Amino acid sequence: MTGTTRLAPGVAMERLAELGAPHDPRAYRVDGLEPLVALAPETPEAVAEALAVCAAAGLVVIPWGGGRQMGLGNLPERYDVALDVRSLSAITHYEPDDLTIAVQAGRSIASLSSELAAHGQMLPIEAADPERVTIGGLVATGIGCPRRFGYGSLRDLIIGITVALPDGTLARGGGIVVKNVSGYDMMRLHFGALGSLGVIIQANFKVLPAPEAQRTLLLSFRESDQSAAAALTLRTSQLAPTALVVLAPPVAKRLADLERWVLAARCEGPEGAVERQVERLRASVETASGESVVLDDRKTLAFWSSVQGELEATPFDRELRVRIGELPSRLGELAAQLERRYGSALRSLVLDSGSGLAYVTVSGEPVELRAFWGELRELGRHATLLGAPIEVKAGEDVFGRHPEGIPVMRRLKETFDPERILNRGRFIAHL
Ligand SMILES: Cc1cc2nc3c(=O)[nH]c(=O)nc-3n(C[C@H](O)[C@H](O)[C@H](O)COP(=O)(O)OP(=O)(O)OC[C@H]3O[C@@H](n4cnc5c(N)ncnc54)[C@H](O)[C@@H]3O)c2cc1C
Repeated sequence: MTGTTRLAPGVAMERLAELGAPHDPRAYRVDGLEPLVALAPETPEAVAEALAVCAAAGLVVIPWGGGRQMGLGNLPERYDVALDVRSLSAITHYEPDDLTIAVQAGRSIASLSSELAAHGQMLPIEAADPERVTIGGLVATGIGCPRRFGYGSLRDLIIGITVALPDGTLARGGGIVVKNVSGYDMMRLHFGALGSLGVIIQANFKVLPAPEAQRTLLLSFRESDQSAAAALTLRTSQLAPTALVVLAPPVAKRLADLERWVLAARCEGPEGAVERQVERLRASVETASGESVVLDDRKTLAFWSSVQGELEATPFDRELRVRIGELPSRLGELAAQLERRYGSALRSLVLDSGSGLAYVTVSGEPVELRAFWGELRELGRHATLLGAPIEVKAGEDVFGRHPEGIPVMRRLKETFDPERILNRGRFIAHL
């Protein structure tokens, strides 16, 4: 079927019911909106066909993974169909010797990670709720974790992608070999596009050997600027931590039961090297530090998973969370400014000193939160609203100030999704 045929909505609904098992639409609310229908197709072809039916009938679709990050995105303009991709969860190709894997979008991070771990391999990703987070959602939201400092972005590890488009086709880009130079770089186009250009069906990755050991060094400081300065020292040292974050006192208390500002450095590699690295990291900032704690392998995994929980795009009732991009050298100044301005309303602040990002969570009544977003949006180099009450998001672009590439993004949207059936209005500039 092609997107040019017009279909009566009733006929379209009947056709959709044949293409995927129906689910309870109440479980698929986005920013208070409930779809008319929710379905879970079981094959890539059925997803593509469902999109073509929706395009022909003018029905607006929101792709659905684990539903964990639905806080990210502008308020939907309209919402008719939730397209749940979790039935597509196969590993379609895995060559441990080649360090490559192809996995369908609906597979959870937990189950992909355990498959890789059985072969001593990994993808450097984290999740607060790994059973729920899907590969498709991870690629569609396209936002990294602090480990990006050591391993690069997940975007750099994608070597191929399969996407269902609103014209009913299944488009493939890249491949399953690491050295892939042919064709357009479709992977990067869909990475972070919030499912506004196509529904991700499968992603191919190059995987990495899992580290033999992991430790996390936690160092506490009296003031935010001391911890940020220490993070910069470690960042520019010869030592190679794989993640480097600074936690404000309320987060440090919740996550590590430590008072004050806490700098956390993750070390990964062979056992002996990791131990030496922890000692050398500690020695290089020791004089300025108060308490220090070293987390073992198991505690390291649990710690970073809960750090991830402070960075997620969660819908909130009385809080808002903003991610601000800023130079690592300016994060300390930014933290001091946020502390002064928000005081006890500052619920959480995590500085990702490796990537140059600050994650700020503040609490308040909706009217205050609107004003806070107005202020936070102007800080740093760019700011994204990751979660807020509906009344705060209304009329706003959660992606903050617009970059210069908006006209190009608009043309891409017109090319891939001319009827605007995918995540209508939710992506940057309300595309
Ligand atoms: C700042 C930040 C950093 C993060 N870093 C990490 C990290 O390092 N590791 C990690 O595991 N998680 C990380 N996350 C969380 C990660 O982005 C989410 O865990 C993941 O997107 C949630 O998956 P989900 O299946 O619950 O997606 P959902 O909440 O269901 O969907 C998220 C968005 O993607 C769209 N979508 C979902 N599936 C598809 C698909 N197949 N095709 C097209 N569009 C689709 C949805 O329409 C929705 O807009 C981070 C999140 C944030 C906000």
